[in-house]
Amino acid sequence: MTTQPAEQETFAGMPTPLYSGSPSRLMAWLDCPRRYRMQYLDRPRPAARPQRAHTSVGIATHNVLRDFWDLPPEQRTPAGVAELVRTSWIDVGFRDPEQSAAWRMRVREVVTDYLRTSDRERQPVGIERSVSLKTEQVAITGRIDRLDDRDGELVVVDYKTGRQVPTDDDARTSLPLALYAVACARMFRRPCRRVELHHVPTGTVAAHEHTEESLERKVAEAESIASDLRRADADYAEVGVESARFAPRPSALCSWCDFRAHCPEGQAQGPEKSDWAGLEPYASTDRRDS
Ligand code: SF4
Repeated sequence: MTTQPAEQETFAGMPTPLYSGSPSRLMAWLDCPRRYRMQYLDRPRPAARPQRAHTSVGIATHNVLRDFWDLPPEQRTPAGVAELVRTSWIDVGFRDPEQSAAWRMRVREVVTDYLRTSDRERQPVGIERSVSLKTEQVAITGRIDRLDDRDGELVVVDYKTGRQVPTDDDARTSLPLALYAVACARMFRRPCRRVELHHVPTGTVAAHEHTEESLERKVAEAESIASDLRRADADYAEVGVESARFAPRPSALCSWCDFRAHCPEGQAQGPEKSDWAGLEPYASTDRRDS
């Protein structure tokens, strides 16, 4: 009996098995196949580096923006936000307690300013809502930061907390946002074409209005990535880490990669960033950010 090559795991005429995964999984593969392998396939999973400060800031900010909508309307105030920031704060990855305290104050200010521009009376349709999308080839599951109802149409909102201010082009090209829009339209049986990236520190909103055609193209893109992943995963199941499909893809991202300690090619890209290097330079006395 001959062994069937991993990429031909189905018999002719049989439907292609569904590839199940999240948009993050698809994007991890595009960023770097080796990182994808370490994150999703290797077991035991290689130890990831400790959490960085900007990740702590991002998680805390998302949690505050989630819990804000559970507050009764009369508590949706700056004091209510301050209390949420206090209870959500994650004191991990900062240089010292002073830097952590300064950033906690900063998050309180930027979230308060961001929410001032929001309609606090209009409850979103969903907060950190899990959604799924199934086609003939993929089953995608993910979680949306916020889903709004704007005059009968659904709008997918994703919060951004990093240094980079997203552009309309980022919203247009985002695969996860497009997949979420398709999933929401199917789940709620309502139009959902608009996707938005809300940059919390600046209050900037980057947006794109998809068409049926552009959403179809995004679904096809996801199916194409999933097709590559199906072959790669099967090859890994057959030959493990010896598989040639998981080549490293060194780039500027290596300095931030959680698995850099297990990747000589990534280490060759330059020194690792400090735990707090992802925090944007702080305006006042805090100048030692990198
Ligand atoms: S360090 Fe760079 S090349 Fe290595 S796994 Fe991470 S992202 Fe990929």
